[in-house]
Order: sequence, then structure tokens, then C-alpha cells
Amino acid sequence: MFENSDNEMLTFAFPGLIEDDILALGSKQIPYMRTSKFSKMVNENEEILKELLDVKDGKVITYTSAGTAAMESVVVNYVSNFNKVLVINGGTFGNRWRDLCKYHNINADEFKVVFGKDINYTKLNDIIDKGNYDVLLCQHHETSSGQLYDLDKISTTCKNNNVRLVVDAISSFMTDDFSMKNWDIDMAVVSSQKGLNIPPGLSFVAIAEKALKQGFSSNNYYLDMEENLSNLQRGQTPFSPATVLFYQLHARLLKLKKEGAEKTLNKVKENALYFRQLCKNNNWTLSAESPSSCVTGFYVENSKNVCNQLNKENIYVMPSGSSELLRVSHIGLQNKRELDIVVNKIVEIQNNLRNEKR
Ligand SMILES: *Cc1c(COP(=O)(O)O)cnc(C)c1O
Repeated sequence: MFENSDNEMLTFAFPGLIEDDILALGSKQIPYMRTSKFSKMVNENEEILKELLDVKDGKVITYTSAGTAAMESVVVNYVSNFNKVLVINGGTFGNRWRDLCKYHNINADEFKVVFGKDINYTKLNDIIDKGNYDVLLCQHHETSSGQLYDLDKISTTCKNNNVRLVVDAISSFMTDDFSMKNWDIDMAVVSSQKGLNIPPGLSFVAIAEKALKQGFSSNNYYLDMEENLSNLQRGQTPFSPATVLFYQLHARLLKLKKEGAEKTLNKVKENALYFRQLCKNNNWTLSAESPSSCVTGFYVENSKNVCNQLNKENIYVMPSGSSELLRVSHIGLQNKRELDIVVNKIVEIQNNLRNEKR
């Protein structure tokens, strides 16, 4: 029963396992994109993304790029217009906001958060109260630890102090509730290989109406927001898009529209809760104080070794650079049986390692 006998690939990473009909789009001939048919699809994608992100009067730019380029786009086109910037930094992706600002010579103060812990919101509020900040950059979900931050609280603090809010929602979009309108978010960043669960290669910047009015600076040719927005008006991109990914995105978005986002959100959550119960049964400590449904981070002995042995069996979980932390994602196709398999495998590998030591 613990055997992954036919060696089916199981992946609990980003993306997760993708549905066959969406994968199949990747094996078709590739239609030319400077056509009204392609434009129509691009416009439809934007409309559905706007609904899902709850940014009805805004815009959503799609870049052919990793998620980090969408973060960089926000930094060079938008954040660079302001003097006082604050970054919430609780791990790898908070670091990335800070590094992007530094790289582009933007002075940014850091609000450090202990890895895996929630934000001390009273302290954050004090700092923002006194700091005269123009803009705050944060993650919704810090994927390196699995910690989900409370955007109700962050947003209230920002509103009370007239601070513009920019959120990296790359690993919370379609895994946890998210609304640009409710949280008064100026810009949000999303990418294709996380909650949307299509291959990596597309990233998105959603821009609220009030941020559109603010205007942008032009510091990067490829990522230029004005240029991308003006092409978007006619359903096009300034440069060659990853056509196939646009079609796979379209298929995913049509499904989400038809089924409703709740269905996916509930499924991700159900898998997360089931897996966390298995962790508890095995006395594995979770890494996050208040976890996102997107991933479960948990500490196990010999995590590197465990990870390598799982890979040999065509099972993929995510290791962590510097600790005994493993992360299992809950996006994509997965069910309780498959979560049982990965847990039982980890237990089996650990038992073998212990016996070898004796
Ligand atoms: C995955 C991720 C990114 C971007 O990753 P890319 O490898 O650049 O696509 C950014 N922020 C968060 C929170 C993420 O989880």
C-alpha cells in the first residue's frame, strides 16, 4: 500500500500535477498571435482575472516571465516614484522585495518578521504611524515558511496612514481568499505556476484604478507598464508572448469561471487540513504560526536525504536551504490517497535511515 508501484509521478511543488486537458494544449500547433482571435482571448483572460482578484475597474498586465519579473515591474514602474518605502520581510520573498529595491537604488526600510511567525501588528502599526511612508511592500503568504499574513490588519494600518499597499499574492491567489477591493490594494502580483496551476512562465500585475491614475515611471523597456497597458487595450502584448501558456491560462480561467473559485479554494484547504493532521499524527512540527492553505512546511530529521530519496521514486516535495524543513504544496491534482503515500514514504525512509545507523 505504501508503494508508489507504477512509479506515477507525484508532485507537491509548483506547479502541482496539471489536468490532462490543459497539458494537451501544449502539444498542439501554435497559432499566430497577432490576430483578432488571440486578442479576444487575451481580453477574456484579463476580464476573468479581474473578477478573481476583485479589481473590477483596474487592469491586469500579463508578462511572459517568472513571478519575480512582475515584482520587478512594480518596483521599477511604481515604487520608484516614491520616497519612503517599507518592506515586510519574513523570509525568502520578503528578502526579494528588499533586494529588488536595493538593486534599483530605491531606499527601503525593512520591517523584519521572525521566520514562520506572524507579524506583530501593533508594532507594525507604530512604525507606520511614525514613519511617514508612501508605500508598503509585503507578501500575503511568505512561501518559504508557509506563514499567511493578515491583510485585514495590514490594510487597516495602511488606510489609516495613507500608505499605498502593494501585495505579492503569488502563493495565496487561488489558495486563500484574496480581494484587492476589500483590502484597498494598489497593486498585486500573481504568477502562473502557483494557485493557477499551469506551467511556469507567465506573471501578472493587477493594478487598481487609483494606482492607474497615479502614473508610472519608465525604467525598464520590457516591463514598461505604459507600453504594456496600451497594447493590452487591443488584446496584445508589446513582444512575443508565450502563446501556448496563454491558451493554457485561458482554459484554466474558463474552468474557474464555470466552477466558481470557491471549489478550488475549498479543495486546496481540504488537502492542507488533511495533510496537517497526518503531520500531527507523526509529531512533525509545522513551520508556520498561521499557515496558508497553499503549502505545509514541517520539520523532519534528515530532510535533505528524505527529499533525495523521494525524488528517486518520482515524488517531489520542496526542500529548504538551511534547515530540516520540507514543504508540501496543496495546489493542483492531489487527493488523500496521494498525501498518504508521501507521508508513509517519509516515515519509511526515516525508519530505514535509523536502522542503518544502528
Ligand atoms: C514563487 C513565488 C515568487 C516568484 O517566483 P518565480 O520563481 O520568480 O516565479 C514570488 N513570491 C512568492 C511569495 C512566491 O511564492
